[in-house]
Amino acid sequence: QPIHAPDNLQPLLESILQQALTVNDGKVADYIPALAEVKSDYCALTVATLDGNVMSVGDADKAFSIQSISKVFGLMLAMERVGDSLWERVQMEPSGQPFNSIVQLEWEQGIPRNPMINAGAILISDVLVSHYSASKSALLSMVRGLCGSEEVYVDYRVHESEREHGARNSALAYLMKSFNNIESDVEEVLDHYFWQCALTMSTEQLARGMAFLANRGKCPHSGRQITTHRDSQRINALLSTSGMYDQSGQFAFTVGLPAKSGVGGGIVAIVPDYGVICAWSPPLNSYGNSARGMYMIRELANNLGLSVY
Ligand code: GLN
Repeated sequence: QPIHAPDNLQPLLESILQQALTVNDGKVADYIPALAEVKSDYCALTVATLDGNVMSVGDADKAFSIQSISKVFGLMLAMERVGDSLWERVQMEPSGQPFNSIVQLEWEQGIPRNPMINAGAILISDVLVSHYSASKSALLSMVRGLCGSEEVYVDYRVHESEREHGARNSALAYLMKSFNNIESDVEEVLDHYFWQCALTMSTEQLARGMAFLANRGKCPHSGRQITTHRDSQRINALLSTSGMYDQSGQFAFTVGLPAKSGVGGGIVAIVPDYGVICAWSPPLNSYGNSARGMYMIRELANNLGLSVY
């Protein structure tokens, strides 16, 4: 259905950003020092429409740690590489548990609930490590291509401290290995996972980089078909059911868009056939989703009537 967005969104974005700055109920991720040190008052909102327009307010050109948003890029690369056999090793069901939960993994014989929680993304990292001789550069060049910019980097300090504080993720990986659901060397798989969590991007880069998901799999900037239309629908379905962890139901109810968050404070929401909304602000709510990011995306989506339902 047509989306009746005003031609000039800028004043609306500006007022939503100002309101968001009064939301003060989140807490910056502190499981690693490199994230704990990020200023809590950063706040950015970007809308990139499929006709090439990019509108931003706030700190939209500042690169931040994309963390779990990288799970979308990893999944896409793995889907392209191994096809439907992927779904024998990871499910497509919401977990209803925190993103780093381990309990279901034992109940379900080492098969993660979905690719958007940590266990699922570590499984996807195994697929990438097993199928690419250089999985990190394969992922990085894909992301740079999607953003149309070489200026996407990895924060080596974040990568390093993810590894140092990675006991729980290591437990997830070794538990899957014990069920024979990890093929490659566990440490190499974890290294890939920690590395992709440490990618840094701005809201503008993320909005561009995810635009193919709003455009039936085709990158609107380069004109390249990145995934099939069917695979872009499938990724969006997983984002709708699992992208916001155990707050995905509430997000579907109040916003109604496929979306992915990360503990760096970023949230990307896909508006099929229209564009991408990306918000960033470091303080997180109790689910690990950006408190102001949730506020901004909800306000914008409700204002413009963007729910896919
Ligand atoms: N690096 C984080 C972790 O593995 C990513 C989780 C997230 O962004 N939700 O715990």
